[in-house]
Amino acid sequence: MKRLLTIACVLIAFSILTLSATDLSPFFRPDAVRVLILSGRNNHDWRTTTPYLKELLLRTGRFDVRVCEEPAGMTSESLAPYHVLVLDYCGPSWGSTAEQAVAQFVKGGKGLVVVHGAIYGFSGLEVLGDGHKPTGIKESPWGEFRQMVGGGWKTTPPKRFHGDRHSFTVKIADSSHPITKDLGASFAATDELYHQMELLPDTKVLATAFDDPKRGGTGQPEPMLWVNQHGQGRVFYTALGHEVPAMQESGFIATFVRGTEWAATGKTALPPDAGCNAQVSKPLRLLVVTGGHAYESSFYSLFDGYRDLAWDHAATNQEAFKNDITGKYDVVLMYDMSQNLDDKGRKNLQAFVEAGKGLVVLHHAIANYQTWAWWSKEVVGGRYLLQKEGDTPGSTYKHDEELVVENAAQHAITAGLAPIHIWDETYKGMWISPTVKVLLKTGNPTSDGPVAWISPYEKSRVVCVQLGHDGKAYRHPAFRELVRRTIFWTAGRLGK
Ligand SMILES: [Zn+2]
Ligand SMILES: [Zn+2]
Repeated sequence: MKRLLTIACVLIAFSILTLSATDLSPFFRPDAVRVLILSGRNNHDWRTTTPYLKELLLRTGRFDVRVCEEPAGMTSESLAPYHVLVLDYCGPSWGSTAEQAVAQFVKGGKGLVVVHGAIYGFSGLEVLGDGHKPTGIKESPWGEFRQMVGGGWKTTPPKRFHGDRHSFTVKIADSSHPITKDLGASFAATDELYHQMELLPDTKVLATAFDDPKRGGTGQPEPMLWVNQHGQGRVFYTALGHEVPAMQESGFIATFVRGTEWAATGKTALPPDAGCNAQVSKPLRLLVVTGGHAYESSFYSLFDGYRDLAWDHAATNQEAFKNDITGKYDVVLMYDMSQNLDDKGRKNLQAFVEAGKGLVVLHHAIANYQTWAWWSKEVVGGRYLLQKEGDTPGSTYKHDEELVVENAAQHAITAGLAPIHIWDETYKGMWISPTVKVLLKTGNPTSDGPVAWISPYEKSRVVCVQLGHDGKAYRHPAFRELVRRTIFWTAGRLGK
């Protein structure tokens, strides 16, 4: 029995060893620089700055990012998968296990980026309390921190941290460094201007800012960006980044993302505008057409928040198609309910779809152009009948129906999206072409069944989505994703 127990213990020990040696690469984006942001306490608003820093890094496509909000639990094992740590933390001590793990991580040849107030956290005094509302300070036992970061405030506690928050110029002091190369001579910051700091002899200043005495400054150039070597590792400090508006300055973004890349790898491949707003050079150009039917204003939120989507709004179909828009937009999304369009407008709309552009017909736009047979039969592949036509009764609608929407086909638009549980308006008695490819369907008896389909129209990609009456749909995450994917697919930017 004892022997069996011993074998069991050896087996358990072996499996733990195997686990710690497990290849973690399937859990990270391939070839990405792996970043761990240490956060969760700060006398700054980490609840907004940490997600923003994460977003800045992800935007570049160069990084994969995790966030740790309880750094006190860190060990060498938990840090091992990462190439660089980003410190957005200013709060109580982590204890010697975690602090040693970080020091070993850096000394062993990896990277550390310290943002703004995070330099204060262990620089001799630490901030107590929940970090949101500091309750006091006490001496920090982590003496190595200052050596690692390459400096800190001259006195402990500092007499002053900074002058007034204002807009100032950051001058590049060393344009040969990978972080600052090709950035030009200077950039603008709107921030606190940290001063009265002291650097260790080997610390290298990359940028400074003149600290205007009229704004409570020292009258001296103060270091804003610096780098330091600690053991085999690289450390980048940015004094900038008091809060998100300060962090959205292009100079902050460029130096932060490149500083993180450099700390991780010793090089920078990212261009000077990496992560900045200008970086999406070719966003999808969308024209949203409304008019002829009321809707809640939260409808517009469907198109917001995507950096690769630039959208305009036309409040009527006449306004939308008064000119040839073939060169101006990639996709038209119709959320209007229109019957009349003059000859010129029809010509322009026809030219747009015949040019191979994308078209999304959303909800009540299925009732558009009742007497324009080419439109509903060939382009849309469906029509809501506004009235009885011969023996065929008019279509019907029902508000606030509880729907379970399921996949009807495998497609890039709907992959992983359904089932969708949603309250929305249903249509019944529509004419739907037998040649459409149904993407989504529901079993609700007040509906025809198909609630999203691809038209057979060959000259351009056309998708019809019956869902989308009001805010209950607009705010449903799956509906939002359905609309987003539909727009990108019709533009040829989302698979086949
Ligand atoms: Zn600050
Ligand atoms: Zn409706």
